[in-house]
Amino acid sequence: MTEKEFAEKYPFLFVGTSDDGTEIYTWIDSFPEGWWKAFGEKMCEEIQHEIDTDPEASEFCILEIKEKYGELRVYAGGSTNRIEEILDKYSFISRNVCIKCGKPDVPMVYAGWISPWCEDCWRENIAEQQRYLKTVHPDDPIEEYPESMHYEKFVHADESWKIPGEIHTKVWKPGADKPVERVVDISSTVAMIRDKSQGVPKNKRRKRDEQK
Ligand SMILES: [Zn+2]
Repeated sequence: MTEKEFAEKYPFLFVGTSDDGTEIYTWIDSFPEGWWKAFGEKMCEEIQHEIDTDPEASEFCILEIKEKYGELRVYAGGSTNRIEEILDKYSFISRNVCIKCGKPDVPMVYAGWISPWCEDCWRENIAEQQRYLKTVHPDDPIEEYPESMHYEKFVHADESWKIPGEIHTKVWKPGADKPVERVVDISSTVAMIRDKSQGVPKNKRRKRDEQK
């Protein structure tokens, strides 16, 4: 699908057109490439479903999309609780999906800053920087990268970097004296992302059930 087709199917993605009307700008332009590839359309599909079925979601609009602390952040207006839950789910999932190529189940990397890169993309990124430095300072010896730039896996408490199948949060109920744990099952979304990355055709992918 082209960007134009995406904007027709999911109108909240539309940003504007160039002055001469030949080019179209959408929020896909700000969406990190790997994340868009892994789950971008699925996220849009779920949001569009809310807009189509919940009158309170009719004013939904995106204000900003970016990566922050290694996760996807979508800032929106006219949101509903349900849409916020969808955005939170994908933000959580993005921590273990390569921001560059979209491969799922990769560790969050700590290399001076936190980022979700797979090891291949990370090495390619460093190599690219080195090639660039070589063109700017051809006579300088290539400096050994400092320890902080090395690929360091930032793992979950269970020593895994697989995307967890559940989101655990603490919520406060009115009048309660302590928070209660809330568990959201996201295993079917995660399974679909894995199937997609392995090239399983769309009609064979596991049916989304947590929506229904
Ligand atoms: Zn990658």
